[in-house]
Amino acid sequence: MHIVNQEEDEKWMRHALSLADKAEAMGEVPVGAVVVLNGNIIGEGWNSPITDHDPSAHAEIRAVRQAALHKGNYRVVDATLYVTLEPCAMCAGMIVHARIARVVFGAPDLKTGAAGSVMQLLQHNALNHQVDITSHILQQACAEKISAFFRRRRAEKKASKLKAVITDSLEK
Ligand SMILES: [Zn+2]
Repeated sequence: MHIVNQEEDEKWMRHALSLADKAEAMGEVPVGAVVVLNGNIIGEGWNSPITDHDPSAHAEIRAVRQAALHKGNYRVVDATLYVTLEPCAMCAGMIVHARIARVVFGAPDLKTGAAGSVMQLLQHNALNHQVDITSHILQQACAEKISAFFRRRRAEKKASKLKAVITDSLEK
């Protein structure tokens, strides 16, 4: 069992949010993740599948890869992973393989969340490793960052479509 300290959780989640900004700056869906062990950051990641041409380049995968390298071990035992969005099935599988002790996430993902929203892979009866979960930490800020990104992208698409229509009509 882990002693849950909400102030501590919010502190690391704010850091994960700042990493999500790096994803956003590259035009990626803004999700950020940080791996913490004994009060120290040992891995950081942000979403970059488009930039990297890599469907596995989710924030969690990148953060845990860095943490495992840091530890010199493919298992990152006793660590806590903070991520702004509920992990998907791929990331949840990786989290179990890595033996991460605890996952803290901000916004639930009602479409692909594998930490309880759509399925529960972090605490699956058939698996021999169960991950502690804390959810809804800075939920509003985490969710708003993603929805603002999609709002802006829709507006940009609309604007460029409109521009195309205007250019087209001017040319006629
Ligand atoms: Zn994922």
